[in-house]
Amino acid sequence: MHCPFCQFADSRVVDSRTSDDGQSIRRRRQCPRCGRRFSTSETASLTVLKRSGVAEPFSRDKVIAGVRKACQGRPVTGDQLARLAQQVEETVRTAGRAEVDAHDVGVAVLAPLRELDEVAYLRYASVYQAFESLEDFEAAIAVLRADQGSAGHGSADRRESAEVQAP
Ligand SMILES: [Zn+2]
Repeated sequence: MHCPFCQFADSRVVDSRTSDDGQSIRRRRQCPRCGRRFSTSETASLTVLKRSGVAEPFSRDKVIAGVRKACQGRPVTGDQLARLAQQVEETVRTAGRAEVDAHDVGVAVLAPLRELDEVAYLRYASVYQAFESLEDFEAAIAVLRADQGSAGHGSADRRESAEVQAP
Protein backbone atom coordinates (compact mmCIF):
# COMPACT_ATOMS: atom_id res chain seq x y z
CA MET A 1 0.00 0.00 0.00
CA HIS A 2 1.53 3.27 -1.16
CA CYS A 3 1.66 6.18 1.25
CA PRO A 4 -0.97 8.72 0.07
CA PHE A 5 1.20 11.60 1.32
CA CYS A 6 4.65 10.88 -0.11
CA GLN A 7 3.84 7.92 -2.40
CA PHE A 8 6.40 5.74 -0.67
CA ALA A 9 5.85 2.19 -1.85
CA ASP A 10 5.51 0.57 1.55
CA SER A 11 3.64 1.09 4.80
CA ARG A 12 3.40 -0.56 8.16
CA VAL A 13 0.14 -1.71 9.78
CA VAL A 14 -0.12 -0.22 13.28
CA ASP A 15 -3.69 -1.24 14.07
CA SER A 16 -6.29 -3.53 12.55
CA ARG A 17 -9.90 -3.95 13.48
CA THR A 18 -13.04 -5.49 12.05
CA SER A 19 -15.95 -3.15 11.45
CA ASP A 20 -19.05 -3.53 13.63
CA ASP A 21 -20.97 -5.34 10.91
CA GLY A 22 -18.08 -7.72 10.28
CA GLN A 23 -18.05 -6.85 6.58
CA SER A 24 -14.75 -5.03 6.43
CA ILE A 25 -11.39 -4.67 8.08
CA ARG A 26 -10.02 -1.24 8.83
CA ARG A 27 -6.27 -0.89 9.07
CA ARG A 28 -4.34 2.02 10.47
CA ARG A 29 -1.04 2.31 8.64
CA GLN A 30 2.08 4.35 9.06
CA CYS A 31 4.54 5.35 6.39
CA PRO A 32 8.12 4.45 7.35
CA ARG A 33 9.49 7.33 5.28
CA CYS A 34 7.36 10.38 6.20
CA GLY A 35 5.90 8.91 9.39
CA ARG A 36 2.34 9.95 8.60
CA ARG A 37 -0.61 7.71 9.35
CA PHE A 38 -3.56 6.79 7.16
CA SER A 39 -6.40 4.26 7.16
CA THR A 40 -7.39 1.66 4.67
CA SER A 41 -10.56 -0.39 4.52
CA GLU A 42 -10.65 -3.87 3.12
CA THR A 43 -13.82 -5.65 1.98
CA ALA A 44 -14.22 -8.92 0.12
CA SER A 45 -14.89 -8.26 -3.53
CA LEU A 46 -18.44 -8.93 -4.61
CA THR A 47 -19.24 -9.76 -8.21
CA VAL A 48 -22.66 -9.47 -9.78
CA LEU A 49 -23.46 -11.84 -12.64
CA LYS A 50 -25.90 -10.36 -15.10
CA ARG A 51 -28.29 -12.43 -17.12
CA SER A 52 -26.23 -11.65 -20.22
CA GLY A 53 -23.35 -13.53 -18.59
CA VAL A 54 -21.39 -10.34 -17.96
CA ALA A 55 -19.79 -10.09 -14.51
CA GLU A 56 -19.27 -6.72 -12.88
CA PRO A 57 -18.38 -5.48 -9.39
CA PHE A 58 -21.29 -4.81 -7.08
CA SER A 59 -22.16 -1.13 -7.20
CA ARG A 60 -24.44 0.74 -4.83
CA ASP A 61 -24.80 3.39 -7.50
CA LYS A 62 -26.29 0.85 -9.89
CA VAL A 63 -28.73 -0.28 -7.21
CA ILE A 64 -29.75 3.33 -6.68
CA ALA A 65 -30.13 3.94 -10.41
CA GLY A 66 -32.48 0.97 -10.71
CA VAL A 67 -34.56 1.94 -7.70
CA ARG A 68 -34.69 5.61 -8.63
CA LYS A 69 -36.70 4.77 -11.74
CA ALA A 70 -39.30 3.02 -9.62
CA CYS A 71 -39.36 6.03 -7.29
CA GLN A 72 -40.16 8.59 -9.98
CA GLY A 73 -42.67 11.09 -8.64
CA ARG A 74 -42.57 9.50 -5.19
CA PRO A 75 -41.47 11.27 -2.00
CA VAL A 76 -38.19 9.38 -1.67
CA THR A 77 -34.97 11.28 -0.95
CA GLY A 78 -31.44 10.66 -2.14
CA ASP A 79 -30.40 9.90 1.44
CA GLN A 80 -33.08 7.24 1.68
CA LEU A 81 -31.92 5.69 -1.57
CA ALA A 82 -28.32 5.67 -0.32
CA ARG A 83 -29.39 3.95 2.88
CA LEU A 84 -31.41 1.43 0.90
CA ALA A 85 -28.42 0.62 -1.29
CA GLN A 86 -26.35 0.07 1.85
CA GLN A 87 -28.98 -2.30 3.24
CA VAL A 88 -29.02 -4.17 -0.07
CA GLU A 89 -25.26 -4.57 -0.01
CA GLU A 90 -25.36 -5.85 3.57
CA THR A 91 -28.09 -8.34 2.68
CA VAL A 92 -26.23 -9.61 -0.36
CA ARG A 93 -22.93 -9.84 1.51
CA THR A 94 -24.54 -11.74 4.37
CA ALA A 95 -24.95 -14.67 2.01
CA GLY A 96 -21.15 -14.86 2.13
CA ARG A 97 -20.69 -15.55 -1.55
CA ALA A 98 -18.16 -13.85 -3.79
CA GLU A 99 -20.58 -13.92 -6.74
CA VAL A 100 -24.29 -13.20 -6.79
CA ASP A 101 -26.85 -13.09 -9.57
CA ALA A 102 -28.19 -9.70 -10.57
CA HIS A 103 -31.61 -11.14 -9.82
CA ASP A 104 -30.61 -11.75 -6.18
CA VAL A 105 -29.63 -8.10 -5.91
CA GLY A 106 -33.03 -7.15 -7.30
CA VAL A 107 -34.76 -9.38 -4.78
CA ALA A 108 -32.70 -7.88 -1.92
CA VAL A 109 -34.10 -4.47 -2.88
CA LEU A 110 -37.70 -5.51 -2.29
CA ALA A 111 -37.95 -5.53 1.52
CA PRO A 112 -36.22 -2.19 2.20
CA LEU A 113 -38.02 -0.55 -0.72
CA ARG A 114 -41.33 -1.71 0.64
CA GLU A 115 -40.47 0.03 3.93
CA LEU A 116 -39.69 3.19 2.00
CA ASP A 117 -42.57 3.50 -0.44
CA GLU A 118 -45.21 0.98 -1.32
CA VAL A 119 -45.98 2.32 -4.77
CA ALA A 120 -42.31 2.28 -5.74
CA TYR A 121 -42.13 -1.21 -4.27
CA LEU A 122 -44.97 -2.41 -6.50
CA ARG A 123 -43.36 -0.89 -9.56
CA TYR A 124 -40.04 -2.53 -8.75
CA ALA A 125 -41.59 -5.86 -7.80
CA SER A 126 -43.52 -5.92 -11.05
CA VAL A 127 -40.22 -6.07 -12.87
CA TYR A 128 -38.18 -8.30 -10.56
CA GLN A 129 -40.92 -10.76 -9.80
CA ALA A 130 -42.09 -10.63 -13.41
CA PHE A 131 -45.69 -9.66 -12.78
CA GLU A 132 -47.67 -10.70 -15.81
CA SER A 133 -51.17 -9.57 -15.07
CA LEU A 134 -53.32 -7.30 -12.95
CA GLU A 135 -53.96 -10.32 -10.75
CA ASP A 136 -50.25 -10.34 -9.84
CA PHE A 137 -50.54 -6.72 -8.74
CA GLU A 138 -53.73 -7.45 -6.85
CA ALA A 139 -52.06 -10.32 -5.04
CA ALA A 140 -49.07 -8.14 -4.10
CA ILE A 141 -51.35 -5.35 -2.95
CA ALA A 142 -53.41 -7.82 -0.93
CA VAL A 143 -50.23 -8.89 0.86
CA LEU A 144 -49.34 -5.26 1.60
CA ARG A 145 -52.85 -4.63 2.91
CA ALA A 146 -52.91 -7.74 5.03
CA ASP A 147 -49.60 -6.76 6.61
CA GLN A 148 -50.73 -3.20 7.18
CA GLY A 149 -54.26 -3.96 8.21
CA SER A 150 -55.27 -0.72 6.50
CA ALA A 151 -57.61 0.28 3.72
CA GLY A 152 -58.43 3.57 2.08
CA HIS A 153 -55.90 4.31 -0.63
CA GLY A 154 -56.86 1.44 -2.86
CA SER A 155 -57.85 3.54 -5.83
CA ALA A 156 -54.45 5.24 -5.84
CA ASP A 157 -52.71 1.88 -5.75
CA ARG A 158 -54.74 0.65 -8.65
CA ARG A 159 -54.03 3.70 -10.74
CA GLU A 160 -50.30 3.33 -10.09
CA SER A 161 -50.47 -0.35 -10.88
CA ALA A 162 -52.13 0.24 -14.20
CA GLU A 163 -49.39 2.71 -15.16
CA VAL A 164 -46.62 0.18 -14.85
CA GLN A 165 -48.40 -2.46 -16.87
CA ALA A 166 -46.75 -1.27 -20.05
CA PRO A 167 -43.01 -1.13 -19.37
ZN1 LIG B 1 4.86 8.75 3.40
